[in-house]
Order: sequence, then structure tokens, then C-alpha cells
Amino acid sequence: MRLSVHQIKMGILGKVICILMTLGWSLQATAWGFYGHRLINRTAVYLLPPEMMVLYKLNIEFLAEHAVDPDKRRYAVNGEAPRHYIDLDRYGQYPYSELPRLWNLAVAKYSEDTLQAHGIVPWWTQIMLRRLTDAFAAKDQLRILKLSADIGHYIGDAHVPLHACTNYNGQLTGQNGIHGFWESRIPELFAEGEYDFFIGKALFIDKPDEFIWARVLESAAAADTVLKSEAVLNARFAPDKKYAYEERLGKVVRQYSTAYSRAYSDMLNGMIERRMRQTIFAVASFWYTAWVNAGQPDLRNLSNRTMTAQEQKDYVELNAQWQKGQALGKICE
Ligand SMILES: [Zn+2]
Repeated sequence: MRLSVHQIKMGILGKVICILMTLGWSLQATAWGFYGHRLINRTAVYLLPPEMMVLYKLNIEFLAEHAVDPDKRRYAVNGEAPRHYIDLDRYGQYPYSELPRLWNLAVAKYSEDTLQAHGIVPWWTQIMLRRLTDAFAAKDQLRILKLSADIGHYIGDAHVPLHACTNYNGQLTGQNGIHGFWESRIPELFAEGEYDFFIGKALFIDKPDEFIWARVLESAAAADTVLKSEAVLNARFAPDKKYAYEERLGKVVRQYSTAYSRAYSDMLNGMIERRMRQTIFAVASFWYTAWVNAGQPDLRNLSNRTMTAQEQKDYVELNAQWQKGQALGKICE
């Protein structure tokens, strides 16, 4: 059989679309979802002052694209997974006062192995903030952008209730799948059309350690509501109304139905929107704080503006490992 040029072109196009769809689908399974993390980094740019906007607005696509790099690293780097969560309920009752907020004191009390085993996100965001501050001071453009994208991700994870408890995917209560339901499915359905993203301006954060601990404690406090509300709703819904088979990105997949998602979102009374708004504010404010602490360098003339050949190769390799790889450590799918 001979194919016309048009048929060949359409065939290639079809394959490309198919690959993109597969890629898109696997990306959905990251915290806040691929969609959510991108949206958070992108929206945070608009909270910045003009002196920062000159760099961030120009590179908004980079910040969005690399918002999920930390989740991809879970497939390539040992020790990456614990940076995304903290199982606070391993440390007694809310507000978990037994757990020292200072890393060195926490290590002395519990050992580093224990802390790593239960997740380190509140400490990791502080390390990232220091690195970002150093990158601003060094006027290193690529490093500023990469670290900004990364820190947006970790701060995003710190705001998700199920990233702050042991029962992170409802696996202990027969609610498997609730993780992606809360942080991916619902934002994808409702964020763009219904959430209010007029958030105001980034603010200088005087005490980043206290700030991020407060957010993580809010997450932990909300985890109970996230789980219990879904259990109540589940008892009310017939299974055939709870799930729907939808064609999605070229595949038929079982999804939480729109009706079930709507009912759950209503039960949570705006919680997911509030957490997303708080995340966007926090991300922009961490970026801004790092820049101020570095002495507000002029961002119009920075060095190291493009990726080296090796850095580009590393990024291709990271994507390849993540697409076919096994996650190292806890994952949320
Ligand atoms: Zn993550």
C-alpha cells in the first residue's frame, strides 16, 4: 500500500499526539498534579514586584515546565522522595510539639534516619531558600530559575494535607486514590473556571522557618477532614455514580465522576482553592524573600543565561528515567 504525503504527515502527527498524550497522562500523577504545579508557579510570577518580573515573566514557561522536576527526580535520585512530605502524626498529637522544629535538635532527638523515613519537607524548603538566596547573590540566572521552579514545587507539596500524614493515600482506611483525587482531579476540574487567583502581592517573610512550619501544621490539621469527608461521601454514593469511565488523553480510564468530585469539593467548603491560593502566595513570597536577602540584585543583566550541552543532556535523561522508571521511595499515585 502506498501512502500519500498527506497520509504520512497525518500518521506522524498522530504518533506525536499519542506520545504527548501518554506523557501528559503519566504527568498527572504528581503532587498537585502536573497541571496544579505548573499553574502555581505560573500564577506566582504575577505577585512579584516589577524588578523581579523582568526576569520571571520572561521565563514563565521555564518556571512552569520545571515545576515538576522534583517529582521526576523521585525516579532518578535516592533520597529525593522524603523532601516532598512529612508524616507528622509519627510524632504524637497535633501540634506535634515533641518534634523540634530545628533540624539539629530534631536529629539529636530522633536520628537523621528516622527523620528521613518520615519526610523532611519543612526543612528542605529552608535549604532551598538558602540556595536560591545564594544564586541571586551570585547573579546566576539559570540557577535562580531552576531553584525557583524547584522551591515552588516543594512549597506546593507542603500545603497539601495528605503530604503531612501517614495515611497519605487513604491506604490505611480503604480510600486508595484519595491523594490524586484531592490534589489533581479536583483542581483540574474546577481551578481554571472557578478559583479566584487574585491574590495580591508577594511579601517579605521575616521568619521562613516559622512560616513553613505553620503551613505544614495547617496541612496536618486538615488531613483528618480530607479523609473523613470522603468516607462520609463514599457511604452516600452508589459505586456506579462514584466513578466514571472517561476517555482521557487517548485512553479510557476510571476516574472519580464529576458529580462525586463536585460533591466532595462542596463538602470541603473551598479548602482546595484556599490551599492553592496560599501556596501561590507562599511561592511568590519565598522567591521575593530570597531576592531581598541577597541585596535585591538587578535581574536585567545576569550571567549564565542558557543551559550548557551537559545540562540539556541531563534534563533529557531525567525525563527518560521518569517516564520508564520505578519511583524510589514513597509515591502518591
Ligand atoms: Zn512532589
